[in-house]
Amino acid sequence: MASARTALITGIAGQDGSFLAELLLEQGYAVTGLSRRGADGPLGASEHLRERISLVAADITDTQAIPGLLDRLRPDELYHLAAPSLVPRSWEQPGETMRAIAAAGVEILEAVLRTEPATRVFVASSGAIFGDSPQSPQNELTPCRPTNPYAIAKLALHQTVGVMRAHTGLHVSSGILFNHESERRPEAFVTRRITRAAAAIALGLESEVTLGSLEAIRDWSFAGDVVRGAWLMLQQEQADDYVLASGIPRTVADLARTAFACVELEAEPHIRVDPALVRPLEAVPSVGDPAKARERLGWRPELSFEQLVERMVRADLRLLESARRGP
Ligand code: NDP
Repeated sequence: MASARTALITGIAGQDGSFLAELLLEQGYAVTGLSRRGADGPLGASEHLRERISLVAADITDTQAIPGLLDRLRPDELYHLAAPSLVPRSWEQPGETMRAIAAAGVEILEAVLRTEPATRVFVASSGAIFGDSPQSPQNELTPCRPTNPYAIAKLALHQTVGVMRAHTGLHVSSGILFNHESERRPEAFVTRRITRAAAAIALGLESEVTLGSLEAIRDWSFAGDVVRGAWLMLQQEQADDYVLASGIPRTVADLARTAFACVELEAEPHIRVDPALVRPLEAVPSVGDPAKARERLGWRPELSFEQLVERMVRADLRLLESARRGP
């Protein structure tokens, strides 16, 4: 019997790590997840997969540990998802952000080259790299003008992927990921804050939600769809960079209206805008153009925006109801 293909996922405890691990397990891969919290520590969004995956403990900034680990594992596919992913926090820790995203990512590529250059690598980049770019929707050729430390670090890694692929022949692809969501998103993100609030208000547990810029435009997809795009990238003969996005602009207000409609409520009476949270609107909306992924990978989102929001609200209703019932 042929042995199973092997995959290593960094950031296994995160939202994307959990959906990707589910997808790879379904495909018959032997999956190893890298978590900095130790093999017995909390596994976050992948807790339900604990018995089905192997775990290795390391911090991706640990330049002593990573090369040895890759040398030992030599996976067929490596999905590098681990990163401090909350953009505002990158202003509090710009140095750590650069180390954990740019330096650690490049060290991982270097370690792959030294140990097992046949490994196919996916690196999670971000639509944030476009920043104040004059163009929208944004594609793989759009000029980048990042506006925060997170985006600068992601751009440094993204560009290193491109030059290392060209210079060394490494099969490494960068996914330029626009916002993608699910019920596994932490509440620090506005999407989950809204879906949880709609559920809590519908259950009579709360009465309002505090938000910032309601007219901010984002391009939201389902995380399960995005990780399928990452997997497709590594199944191609040639590695390349791809935008993964819905291509459809939506405002925070659209999201709130859609979420509250799932529980048959009007959003507006329940929203309080906190001026301290309001940010100036981007001159050019952050919207991706996924045409290349559609044409070359055959990728398209399967879950619509409305289905995604409904999925999140339903999950929050279940969570809050079970918390109310108690253990
Ligand atoms: P999450 O924040 O849910 O998961 C990131 C994971 O990375 C966490 O489990 C975290 O571990 C881990 N991590 C962070 N720093 C380190 C470190 N120093 N060493 C080891 N592990 C670390 O993010 P997502 O799953 O949403 O995103 C996955 C990737 O996609 C990230 O690189 C993100 O920047 C990128 N991305 C995501 C977008 C989105 O909309 N979701 C949009 C664009 C890009 P711990 O649990 O210990 O904190």
